[in-house]
Amino acid sequence: MLVVQSSLRVAGDDNSLGALIRRRRRNVQFLSGWHDFAEFGCEKGITMIANRSYDCVVLGAGPGGSSAAAIVAEQGLSVLLVERDKMPRFHVGESLMPETYWVFERLGIVNELDRIGFTRKYGVQFVSSNDRETKPFVFAEHDSRPCNETWHVDRAKFDHLLFETAFNRGATCVDGTRVLEIDIRNKSPHLVTLQGEDGKQQEISAKVIIDASGQSSLLANRFQTKEYYDDLRKAAIWGYYDGAVRAGGGKAEVTCILHTKTKDAWFWYIPLSDGTVSVGLVGDNDFLLKRGGSPAKTFETEINNCPGVKRRLMDAKLRGKFAVAKEFSYTVKEQSGDGWVLVGDAGGFIDPCYSSGVFLALKSGVMAGEAVAEGLHAGDTSAKQLGKWTREYEAGVKWIRKLVRAFYTKEFSFGSFMNAHPEHAKNVTNLLIGRVFEGNPGKVFEDMDPWIEKAKRGEDMEMAASN
Ligand SMILES: Cc1cc2nc3c(=O)[nH]c(=O)nc-3n(C[C@H](O)[C@H](O)[C@H](O)COP(=O)(O)OP(=O)(O)OC[C@H]3O[C@@H](n4cnc5c(N)ncnc54)[C@H](O)[C@@H]3O)c2cc1C
Repeated sequence: MLVVQSSLRVAGDDNSLGALIRRRRRNVQFLSGWHDFAEFGCEKGITMIANRSYDCVVLGAGPGGSSAAAIVAEQGLSVLLVERDKMPRFHVGESLMPETYWVFERLGIVNELDRIGFTRKYGVQFVSSNDRETKPFVFAEHDSRPCNETWHVDRAKFDHLLFETAFNRGATCVDGTRVLEIDIRNKSPHLVTLQGEDGKQQEISAKVIIDASGQSSLLANRFQTKEYYDDLRKAAIWGYYDGAVRAGGGKAEVTCILHTKTKDAWFWYIPLSDGTVSVGLVGDNDFLLKRGGSPAKTFETEINNCPGVKRRLMDAKLRGKFAVAKEFSYTVKEQSGDGWVLVGDAGGFIDPCYSSGVFLALKSGVMAGEAVAEGLHAGDTSAKQLGKWTREYEAGVKWIRKLVRAFYTKEFSFGSFMNAHPEHAKNVTNLLIGRVFEGNPGKVFEDMDPWIEKAKRGEDMEMAASN
C-alpha cells in the first residue's frame, strides 16, 4: 500500500500547478523525511494511514474520485483518496469530450496534458451501416476557443495525472488499498474499513464519503438503488491494434463510430499516442456474448460485417488480448444522503457511444466536490447540501441520454437527418462536445424527435432528405 500523507493547505496567490507541486515537495519532505514527490506512485510506502479521521474520504481514484478529492482538498479540508488498484492502472475509455477542457483548466492541468502528448481529437465521424463515411463533426468549425480540441488518452497515464493532481491539491492519496466495508451511520461521521495489499485492515472515519468507485457502485449496490436500463443492456469486446490505419497520421484524429451492416452492433475506433488504435465492438448483451463462440470469434465475425473497420485493420495486428465488459448502463435512484454523495459511474452510466463517461465523471466530481467543501465549511453535510448540484447535472445529462437512444434506434440514420437538417450541425456538434450544461442543448430534438418517429413508422427518410 502506498500512502502519501499530506497536511498542506493551499494558501497565497500563486495556485498554479507548478507552485503547488513546489510547495508539496517541500511539505512532503518536511513531513515524512523520505516521501519525496518523485517517489509518488512507486511501491515504497507505509502500511497504515496515520490519520484515522478525515473531513472527507473519497472511494476510488478514477476521474470522478480524483477530481472531487482535488476540489475538496484545495479548500483546506482533510481528504483521503483511496484506490484499490496500484496506480497507474489500466482502464477503458480513451476518447474524451472537448468540454473536459474546463475541468482541466479548473484543476490547472491543461499544460500537463499537452506535455504528455496524447493524440489530439478534433472531431467525431460516423460511418453508416451501408459504409457511407459521413462528413466528420469538426469541433473547431463551431468554436474557435482552445477547448475546440481534446484528446484520445491512455487512461493509465491520464488517471495517474489526476491522482497526482489530487495529491498536489492537498489530498492524502492511497493506492493498492481496497474499501472493504462502509458503515453509514444515522449521523456522520461514517466509517470506512480499508484493507491494504498485506491484508491489514484499518478503520477510518469521515464526515463525508464521496463514492467514486465506478461500476462497482459501492453505495448504490449496498442500498440496492441501482437500476439497469432495459433498452441499453449492452456488452463490449475491445482490443488494441498495431499497424491500423490512422487517417490523421497520428497527430490529430477523429473518434470514429462505425455501424455494422445489420446495425446490430457498432465499433469505436480511437487512435492512441502509443501507435495503437483502440477498437471496440458494442452490441446487445445477448447478441455479443450469448451466440456461442469466443469473444475473439464474435469480434472477427463482426469485422467481416463492417467494411469500414475491415479496411482500417487490413494490415493490423492485435496487441495482447481482447477485453470484455457487459451491463454497464444504469441509473441510481438516490445520488446523495446525509454525509454521502455519488460521483461518476458510481452514480450512473449511460453508454460509451458518445464518449461521455470521463467528462461526466470529471464534471460530477467537480460539482460534488464544491458542494461537499461548502457543506463541510458550513457544518451542513445533509443530503440536500451534498446533492445540491444534481438537478442541474441531470438536466444536462438527459440530452446525452436522449442522443444515445437516437443512436440505437435502428431505423434512424444520423446521415440522412443531417442531410435534411444541416442547420442542426452546430446543435449536434455541441452535444458531441458535451456542451449540455449551458445554452439550449435540446434544440436539435425539436426536429430529431419527429424524424425518429417517422422513421420508426417506416416512412422513407432518405427520400424525405433529398426532397
Ligand atoms: C466499454 C466501455 C467503453 C468506454 N469508452 C469511453 C470513452 O471512449 N470515453 C469516455 O469518456 N468514457 C468511456 N467509457 C466510460 C468511462 O470508462 C467511465 O465513465 C469513467 O472511467 C468513469 O470514471 P469514474 O471515476 O466514475 O470511475 P472509474 O474510472 O471506473 O474509477 C473508479 C475507481 O474505483 C476503484 N474502486 C472500485 N472499487 C473499489 C474498492 N472497493 N476500493 C477501492 N477502490 C475501488 C476502481 O479500481 C477504479 O479505479 C467507457 C465505458 C465502457 C464500459
